Amino acid sequence: MSRPITAIIKTSSLESNLDIIRSHAPNKKIWSVVKANAYGHRLHAVWKGLKKTDGFALLNLHEAIFLRKNGWKGAILLLEGFFNPKELTIIAYYNLTITIHSKWQIQAIKRATLKFPLNIYVKFNSGMNRFGFNEKIILNVLEELNSLKQISTLALMTHFSDSNNIEKIKEQMKKINNVIQYFPCTQCYANSSAILWHPKTHGTWIRPGIILYGASPNGNWKDISRNGFQPVMTLQSKLIAIQKISAQEYIGYKGTYKTEKKRRIGIIACGYADGYPRNAPTGTPVWIHNTKSRILGKVCMDTITIDLQHCPYAKIGSNVELWGKNIKVDEIATLSGTLSYELLSKLSQKIKMKIQ
Ligand SMILES: *Cc1c(COP(=O)(O)O)cnc(C)c1O
Repeated sequence: MSRPITAIIKTSSLESNLDIIRSHAPNKKIWSVVKANAYGHRLHAVWKGLKKTDGFALLNLHEAIFLRKNGWKGAILLLEGFFNPKELTIIAYYNLTITIHSKWQIQAIKRATLKFPLNIYVKFNSGMNRFGFNEKIILNVLEELNSLKQISTLALMTHFSDSNNIEKIKEQMKKINNVIQYFPCTQCYANSSAILWHPKTHGTWIRPGIILYGASPNGNWKDISRNGFQPVMTLQSKLIAIQKISAQEYIGYKGTYKTEKKRRIGIIACGYADGYPRNAPTGTPVWIHNTKSRILGKVCMDTITIDLQHCPYAKIGSNVELWGKNIKVDEIATLSGTLSYELLSKLSQKIKMKIQ
């Protein structure tokens, strides 16, 4: 038998999360962001649960082609556009929408001979300072692209650098509105937190990522659970060993946890090589036999040690939830000094995935 670690993907949660997003932005079109292999949930495992979306936004051409070959006829957005001018023929053939963020891409489009015209999202650098054309040149870029025969539709796109900060959003929206005033077009700006908390940013299309998967954009689960979002992934494994340890013993590497009295402990088949955060401290919760237990000592490469003090029924083979419905990935992320984005997207791709 193979190692018992599994990620379970709950399709009904994807569907209901998407419905909740739609209710927050009625009449808007939705790009479901499935980059980083659907935030670690894997594109093949999630896309059917998101069929009611208007489009999928991702990074790799082969993933876009995967969707087309599996029958997806709706929109597809390549968030970083193309990486090589040779890709333009394929992009046009599959009717993909592409982000344009750099001058070299415009030159490449001008030189291209294409059978079908392109749908373009022009990236406006309104303050994130990562991709795009700044406020001095954006209008010229839009006018120039608008005149090209290789292009059929144009949209303005930007990304918020701190969408939990209303002042920063207002600053960026002001720059955006200055552009739209002179060049009215399709607009696409809002990520998860802007969708939930800043309705003025919604534009024409919204771009939810993390909330589709039932985790919070600000790391605080309560902020999204009150809207009814449900975690999509349950990461579970099993106890593969149990030890009885005397008092005053040290557990695991560096002996960071010392037993104050006799303890029964369990070893779970899951470690940082699987994507569980190595920084998770003693006390980080896990769920076993309908109770919360906690990690003792350091997370190892392939194992985690937990306290079985209050789990009399725990035995070898018992299921343990590392995160999911009972233990929120947001909580594990916070305790480990990171965000659910990182934990989910870094989950090892070796782990078995079950679609439910
Ligand atoms: C990742 C990403 C999103 C989604 O962000 P969330 O915070 O996960 O909603 C939206 N737009 C762009 C450009 C992105 O890279």
